[in-house]
Amino acid sequence: MAGDSSRTDLTGMTAAGLAAAIAAGETSAVEVTRAHLDRIDAVDAQVRAFLHVAPEVALAAARAVDARRAAGEPLGPLAGVPLALKDLFTTTDMPTTCGSRILDGWRAPYDATVTARLRRAGVVILGKVNMDEFAMGSSTENSAFGPTHNPWDLSRVPGGSSGGSSAAVAAFEAPLGIGTDTGGSIRQPAAVCGIVGTKPTYGGSSRYGVVAFASSLDTPGPLARTVLDTALLHEVMSGHDPCDSTSIDAPVPPVVAAARQADVSGLRVGVVAELGGEGYQPGVLARFGEAVELLESLGAKVTEVSCPHFSYALPAYYLIAPSECSSNLARFDGMRYGLRVGDDGTASAEEVMSLTRAAGFGAEVKRRIMLGTYALSSGYYDAYYGKAQQVRTLIARDFDAAFEQVDVLVSPTTPTTAFPIGERADDPMAMYLADLCTIPSDLAGNAALSVPCGLAPDDGLPVGLQVMAPVLADDRLYRVAAAVEAALDARRGHPLLDEAKGLGDD
Ligand code: GLN
Repeated sequence: MAGDSSRTDLTGMTAAGLAAAIAAGETSAVEVTRAHLDRIDAVDAQVRAFLHVAPEVALAAARAVDARRAAGEPLGPLAGVPLALKDLFTTTDMPTTCGSRILDGWRAPYDATVTARLRRAGVVILGKVNMDEFAMGSSTENSAFGPTHNPWDLSRVPGGSSGGSSAAVAAFEAPLGIGTDTGGSIRQPAAVCGIVGTKPTYGGSSRYGVVAFASSLDTPGPLARTVLDTALLHEVMSGHDPCDSTSIDAPVPPVVAAARQADVSGLRVGVVAELGGEGYQPGVLARFGEAVELLESLGAKVTEVSCPHFSYALPAYYLIAPSECSSNLARFDGMRYGLRVGDDGTASAEEVMSLTRAAGFGAEVKRRIMLGTYALSSGYYDAYYGKAQQVRTLIARDFDAAFEQVDVLVSPTTPTTAFPIGERADDPMAMYLADLCTIPSDLAGNAALSVPCGLAPDDGLPVGLQVMAPVLADDRLYRVAAAVEAALDARRGHPLLDEAKGLGDD
């Protein structure tokens, strides 16, 4: 990425810094937006995070923020700050593809609640970003529109399924991103792109207008380069939504205050015995071990905690998530949304549905629909889906028991750093293993986050520390993450901002 100077002072700033500079009149939302659009122009041909850039929509939103400031109206904490939106949140003024051909030409009739909240807060949506088709994957290679590249090493994956959101933030194309986490799709790409990403408590952020993959697991959440920025976005996007029947009617946990507190003294931290060890990349384990020692040196009380059923989380997830997806994706039938194939006036409705689904869905989506249909079929339901639900309960009980002994749990976020594009594309099992550590919190519905904890000594790529907290104790995640971030910043520079010079700096 030599020879471009698109990374200006504005694109290098944090969201908090940009919002403050806009509010103080030191820059304008339009200027900030233009700087990020220029950055996208300069580097996205290589990173390929964006499926759709919306300069007009973005500049109109920025102008509205500048007008509000000029009129002396109060601005929210992220007003004028650009954001990359995962392409499964509906938007009336941009396409929504879910990384799939099957939605070709479809335009959503309403904004997702998250989209609407961002707009109301004056956040500038730059466009829609790439993802594994219908959020099924861990590498963004399952997108119908080609893979996104990891800004740390363009030959590697950015993780997935929120790989576009994570790569855009890591490449300084946007200070903020939004993803969804069903089995790890925020935390895993955050970890391998060296940024912060949170899966809020299930029901803490609205699913209304989020194209469904597995409804009992899908959780929208924030991504950013710093813990405070992530907390600010968490607060802006979250809260009760009467349009989502599983939305929690409770106040948003005080995540911003916790990020500012950045204090772990006296906090009881449990290292999950089952996550780590054999099969994990040595460089990941090395950085994880240092992060645990760091927490101890900052005054946390560290113990080892066993969660015996976590070993069954992956198989249970790969029955529950496909089962739900086989039902949710039945609606893409060539009649109601986007693509329609074979409708020549003589074909039956069944033939058109079959041809449309055959042409419109990619291989992984088809695999999941078949797995799920099988797991739910009469005669197998109890043995597969029913059993998986029982395992899910046992995992939730493991968390309950652990959280009687400790305030938070920690583990590596992923077993390895970013892997090369193509390496696992033909091996679904190897791909599924990327989510080994993240899936338990999805099944139990509790809050979890990934924060950078340095670069692996064996390959120089980012490593994530996963922090897990009880349901509605999301604020604890930020206390821990902010303390780790501050200590690492002081010791060896910010893992992303300093160690990687980023695209276009040389
Ligand atoms: N990689 C996991 C899967 O493919 C998780 C995806 C997600 O969280 N959306 O199902």
